Amino acid sequence: MTSFDELGLIAPIMRVLEAESYVTPTPIQSRAIPRLLAGRDLLGIAQTGTGKTAAFGLPLLQKLRTDMRTVKARATRALILAPTRELALQIDTSLRSYGRGLKLRHCVIFGGVNQNRQVQELAKGVDILVATPGRLLDLISQRHLRLDEVEIFVVDEADRMLDMGFIRDVRRIVALLPKERQSMLFSATMPDDIVKLVGDMLKQPERIEIAPQSRPAERIEQRVLFTEGRQKRGILISLLRNPEVKRAIVFTKTKYGANKVAETLEKAGLCAEAIHGNKSQNARQRALARFRSGEAPILVATDIAARGIDIDEITHVINFELPNEAESYVHRIGRTARAGASGIAISLVDDSERGLLRQVERITKQRIPVVPAPEGVAEKMPEPRRERSHARPPQTAAERPSQSPAERGPRREGRRRPRRKSRTGHPHGKAPVMGTSR
Ligand code: AMP
Repeated sequence: MTSFDELGLIAPIMRVLEAESYVTPTPIQSRAIPRLLAGRDLLGIAQTGTGKTAAFGLPLLQKLRTDMRTVKARATRALILAPTRELALQIDTSLRSYGRGLKLRHCVIFGGVNQNRQVQELAKGVDILVATPGRLLDLISQRHLRLDEVEIFVVDEADRMLDMGFIRDVRRIVALLPKERQSMLFSATMPDDIVKLVGDMLKQPERIEIAPQSRPAERIEQRVLFTEGRQKRGILISLLRNPEVKRAIVFTKTKYGANKVAETLEKAGLCAEAIHGNKSQNARQRALARFRSGEAPILVATDIAARGIDIDEITHVINFELPNEAESYVHRIGRTARAGASGIAISLVDDSERGLLRQVERITKQRIPVVPAPEGVAEKMPEPRRERSHARPPQTAAERPSQSPAERGPRREGRRRPRRKSRTGHPHGKAPVMGTSR
């Protein structure tokens, strides 16, 4: 294991690390920092939480500091692009903190607010500019900003840029940069468009891939609920009506799916917000604020849109659909059980998703207990139409002949068959699937 002493960082930065109580570099830091200090380009395949801000931020600060020079009016020496206002602010705050005492000029710009203060800050030139792509291009077209002095260029969360429709803006920005520069790109996933951007933007980059965490926190109680695809919505409503759900994130695979699910929940009288890349920055901000304040206790989100959301007291994560990449499962359910709390993660799995479930169980090296649908749900939903009639179609997949490891797994959470008719009180009030099993 390396220590920060071995990475070639200058004394003022080492003092900051000490003050921040950063004792050991994270894997991406120990690998990226020496290479970036040596002037290499970098492709970092890593998610938030890996320490990537310091990984690119510390060498960036050091390079600007050791080669101090006056910046021209309206110019910047380092440019960091981030997809959202929240991330831009977060990066700016971290860089100001890591660079305290270095006497570098920082500025952060993003849309949705009046531009006057940003224009003023840029007027004399800055050392480090963190920006969202739209406002950046806006200020360039108004001649408040020029990019011909950029020495270091960073694109953070490139896949999210793509998801939010910013990739063309990023390309336009790249075209305005000097050819001689150091560039870095970070992305958690590598869709084709990002691979292409990397090819156009980076020169023989050092590639560092940090595998996402593969073991979920032990405090998260995981469950699988086998169901027909068409019953998922009814089951979801029933699960979310449980009073134990104080704050929940529901994950869908697609943006379209997120909207649909949020609409269904609203119709059922549940207060839900959807966030995904097709929504405007302001709409996303509003949705998040309502979720954070508890006004809308349910957030329906796609993987990429939910990245970076750090909200405590999320009691439940529900996978309306399993993600295509098993690693995303770990990431999703890690939204609950934060700050020492415990949490419950339930995945609704239909026949087409059994393979995905097997992958999740393989990478997490655990079997996820199977639970039945909340009481009353199966009978309330229309019977699935079948090609051949069965004497009695199974009510839940937990009752079907077992195939997947999950189904063969322990069923200590109850193989109780859902009652055929619930006549007593609220049918979903005490569904065992939502509470803790103890
Ligand atoms: P990031 O992935 O850059 O968003 O960083 C995730 C969190 O880890 C931030 O709260 C950082 O302050 C923290 N962090 C980054 N590097 C280290 C380190 N070497 N030791 C301890 N904490 C760190």
